[in-house]
Amino acid sequence: MGTLYVIATPIGNLEDITLRAIRVLREVNLIACEDTRVTRHLLDHYEIKTPTVSYFQHSKLSKIDYLVEQLRQGKNVALVSDAGTPGISDPGQALIGYLRQELPEVAVLPIPGPSAVAAAASVAGTIEKEFYFAGFLPKKKGRQTKFKMLSKLETPIVIYESALRLERTLSDIQSHFGDEVEIFIAREMTKMFEEYWTGRISEVIRDLSNHKLKGEVVLIVGHGGAKQAEGD
Ligand code: SAM
Repeated sequence: MGTLYVIATPIGNLEDITLRAIRVLREVNLIACEDTRVTRHLLDHYEIKTPTVSYFQHSKLSKIDYLVEQLRQGKNVALVSDAGTPGISDPGQALIGYLRQELPEVAVLPIPGPSAVAAAASVAGTIEKEFYFAGFLPKKKGRQTKFKMLSKLETPIVIYESALRLERTLSDIQSHFGDEVEIFIAREMTKMFEEYWTGRISEVIRDLSNHKLKGEVVLIVGHGGAKQAEGD
């Protein structure tokens, strides 16, 4: 049986990859990618010649069959997503879940590295001990119910979002959490034009009203987190 290596790749800056990740990407027989064109950019940068295959969670059965067959034949496979850690709001869990349940002889090993949730949480300054990771929120069905649930939590909440939908999401946060809630926004982390905002949501919305934002963002909706703890 082969081994499946679940490898974290950069979320922007190509230097954010571990030495082990580069070595294993070189040594495996096959790299299963979310999008082979995106991963090719990284592989070319490090002159890695390993063959790639695309892996889509939504056409999961045939791809899983193919990758499972490779592992059964003793091939070592690396699983990567377009950015960050596979399986965290990204494809990967279907294959990994299948292997854990049906083929426990295959070792599934993490090669840890970048993840947008960890990067944003590490620089927010509002997280004292714990946080809730919400990932992507529902776009339509179940969205308001989700916000109601989130607004009852007493920990900071980490949300993944596209900058294009940021305005609407900030407005929903304001409606459910009120004008005073602290918000931290990290946009395009590790890239050339990375930006960060922090403050009360009403102020942040005002500051952002003149910006046309592009790219990817992580939001952290705080309940005062670290500051609150200081006054405990
Ligand atoms: N698996 C990835 C990880 O471990 O971070 C997350 C993939 S998810 C499809 C993409 C989301 O992650 C984006 O919509 C955004 O919320 C966040 N993200 C990824 N890269 C980012 C970056 N450079 N700056 C800010 N947010 C980012």
